[in-house]
Amino acid sequence: MNKPKSQVLEELRIAAVDEAKAVAFIEKQRWGNDACCPRCGDMDVYQMMTDGQRNKDYRWRCRGCKAMYTVRTGTVFEGSRIQLRHWCFGFWRASTSKKGVSARRKVGRYKLRRNRSDLLIRKYVVVRKSVGTQS
Ligand SMILES: [Zn+2]
Repeated sequence: MNKPKSQVLEELRIAAVDEAKAVAFIEKQRWGNDACCPRCGDMDVYQMMTDGQRNKDYRWRCRGCKAMYTVRTGTVFEGSRIQLRHWCFGFWRASTSKKGVSARRKVGRYKLRRNRSDLLIRKYVVVRKSVGTQS
């Protein structure tokens, strides 16, 4: 018998496929439909665009304090150069695997360098703790 599929797990699986979808997924998790400036809290913000597309860094700008920021700003993802789709894949993989995912397996399967993989695992643990995920 198949377990009912979790909506958020399905979204994670899709987000792991490309960076734009991963950014949109993380933005939705962080802000829902009410994006706000992580610096001053102003909700008068907009996505920066280049030729009708989101710019390559997926930046936002605040009309209040004029700060530029991304969904990573002020989160455990800030300062990480790992693409958000890799994070999403890691979260999806760890959430769907009964045993979780070891750092060594991440290195092998996802072709991440060891130090990157260790960093990802440490941050993942921080995220899991802060979200309070059971299992
Ligand atoms: Zn602001």
